[in-house]
Amino acid sequence: MLTESLPRNFILILCCTIVIFLIVIVLYAQDQIKQQSELITSERLMTINQIASRTELRVNNAVNILKILSKHPHVTSSPSAALIDDKLHGIPEDVDVARRNAMRVVFDEYGGFQNMLFLLPNGDVYINEPFFFQKNMTVSNFAFREWYKEVIDTQKTVISDVVISKSSGKPNIVIAVPVFSQEESLQGILTGSLSLDIIEERLQDLTSYTDERVLIVDEARTVIADSKRILKGQYIVIGMGAIENSLSGKSGTVVGTINGTKMFVAYHPVNVDSSTWAILSIQPYDQVFSNVNKTIQATIILVFIIVVIASVSILTVNRYFKTQIRMRKQAEQISADLTRTHDLLAKSEEKYKNLYHLSPDAIVVFDKNGIITSYNESFKDLFGYQLEELHGKSVFTIVSDDCLDLAHRYFDEILRTGVLKNKENWLKKKDGTVFPSFFSVGAVSGHNDSTEYIAIINDISEIYDARKKLEAANNIIQKQLEEIKDADKLKDEFSAMITHELKTPLVPIIGYCKMLKNKMLGELNYEQFESIDTIDKNAKRLESLINDMMDARKLDLDKMRFNIENVSIDEFFENLNTSYKMLGQIGKEFIVNLPKKGLVIKTDKMRLRQVFDNLITNAIKFTPSQNAKIEIGALQEGHKIRFYVKDNGIGIPKDKMPRLFKKFYQIDTSERRNSGGTGLGLAISKGIVEKLNGKIWAESDGVSGTTFHFVLDNA
Ligand code: ATP
Ligand code: MG
Repeated sequence: MLTESLPRNFILILCCTIVIFLIVIVLYAQDQIKQQSELITSERLMTINQIASRTELRVNNAVNILKILSKHPHVTSSPSAALIDDKLHGIPEDVDVARRNAMRVVFDEYGGFQNMLFLLPNGDVYINEPFFFQKNMTVSNFAFREWYKEVIDTQKTVISDVVISKSSGKPNIVIAVPVFSQEESLQGILTGSLSLDIIEERLQDLTSYTDERVLIVDEARTVIADSKRILKGQYIVIGMGAIENSLSGKSGTVVGTINGTKMFVAYHPVNVDSSTWAILSIQPYDQVFSNVNKTIQATIILVFIIVVIASVSILTVNRYFKTQIRMRKQAEQISADLTRTHDLLAKSEEKYKNLYHLSPDAIVVFDKNGIITSYNESFKDLFGYQLEELHGKSVFTIVSDDCLDLAHRYFDEILRTGVLKNKENWLKKKDGTVFPSFFSVGAVSGHNDSTEYIAIINDISEIYDARKKLEAANNIIQKQLEEIKDADKLKDEFSAMITHELKTPLVPIIGYCKMLKNKMLGELNYEQFESIDTIDKNAKRLESLINDMMDARKLDLDKMRFNIENVSIDEFFENLNTSYKMLGQIGKEFIVNLPKKGLVIKTDKMRLRQVFDNLITNAIKFTPSQNAKIEIGALQEGHKIRFYVKDNGIGIPKDKMPRLFKKFYQIDTSERRNSGGTGLGLAISKGIVEKLNGKIWAESDGVSGTTFHFVLDNA
């Protein structure tokens, strides 16, 4: 059985194994690296030891050969200072020939000397071999040389530090051997100059590693030989104690930085006669230990690969275990769900059985041939059959004979679509009585997977009766509605007629008033004129009232006609200004604000004017008789134009705003009494603006004036 802890333990063991494996690899690699490093170091020491031995051999050979020569009878015989020719810087070639010949043989045989000297005890040159060297010499006495002084002092063989030859200008070392007579008195000094070039050449042959540089340094830290042939004769400091250690006779290796590069230095002493030199092999650390570096790199790569493989493996194993556990849980869940579903199914089957049998609706089940297979208690009661009496009979048995055609059409639809919803038909009971029914049919899967159809039937006799009554009532209502409409029409026609009839007599009244006032029918006295003027004013008010009422009616019946044309706003406002500028004479300033000239709007000019007249009339009515200010304007807002009429009058209280545009609405306050009017102006204005597809609204703080805005589309 897979438990939660098993994968955890497994992964733990896997991790431990990998860690141990890594530790073993690292330890093994460390051991290998140590062994390789030790091998390299010891090999390097061996090589430098060999170079030291060869150098020692070479120099000691030269010393020995000079020592042997210094004992030769031709050399130990006493020289004659009188033979020295100053111009020749020594004796001529053809005198004391035996001594010169002995020296020449050694010079030729050894081959490593640059020249050989026989000096008198006072340092004067007696013989310089080869002879052409002697002739070309610049100095005739060497008493100034350190090695000369040391030989005189110690009476022993001396190997000089590096000296620069006065004649050749090249660095070399001088081996100086004292020459004694048989009586042990100092006869002179025999010297051989060893060319450092020759040592260097040998050194070059002996260096064997890439980028390796071998240096031989004397006790004065002057470079005797440099395998790269650069530093010869120069004073150097290497540091790291390499030179000091080898000069004190030790050999070893050291690692340090030279000119910013990590270097591996092997050092070894070179014992030449009584002197000690240091021999150094210098090579970049990375070159020396390139193999070790490779081993380290290989180890790192190996460790990295192992870590990657191990991580992937652990992840895979972990995922595998998790999937296994999840699948097991899912399986358990599914099994539990199945059991639950099974229980639920059993319960719901029981429930549906009860539902079927105890349902107040009549339910009948039939097959695709229309054969009844079962029905419930309610069906039995409704149709008056015994239980199972209709089993095996056609479902059409229960259909009223008059409605069999419709029933067959329904049946075809059921077979085709498997469903029939909310249908009505007349059905027949066992005793032959028929009743209206309301039913729905649905397909269900019956025995042996064959399709069966279940019909739920309701007796709607009562509803049918109620519906009949409702239809009758409806017909009556419909009739009454028609009558009301007719009456309404009559009323409209009557009111149209009345307004028209009211207006008709006004035309001659106003006409005659005008003629009378213009004295066209004779002179009038003051009282007569006043009376006619009163008649004229009242007739005009009546005319305006009738006009307003007619407009309001037209708007209600949507019968107002609009004449749409391009209207120049400049011109339109100019006309308004002309009409209203005389307001100034009665203390009401009239201002026109038109920031943008040349605006044109497509609208009905007359109706637009009517709206402005209504709003301006209101502004005049509801402003004080002193310092009143009425401003009208038009502003472009996108492709719309906003018009406004602003006054500094008594304002409109906030709570009155909602009913402001209603027909016949007038605000009833003491300040507004006697302002006249009928309360139709704003309702008509709103009607016109809306028919022109615009919107109108008012703004007021209720005390210091009102602004009416309306926006019309200019598209
Ligand atoms: P009519 O316009 O039919 O002659 P009216 O001016 O009274 O009558 P409306 O223009 O519909 O009717 O205005 C309705 C009411 O709104 C007005 O009676 C008034 O109380 C208020 N009203 C309208 N305009 C203003 C205004 N500029 N300042 C203050 N109140 C106003
Ligand atoms: Mg008004």
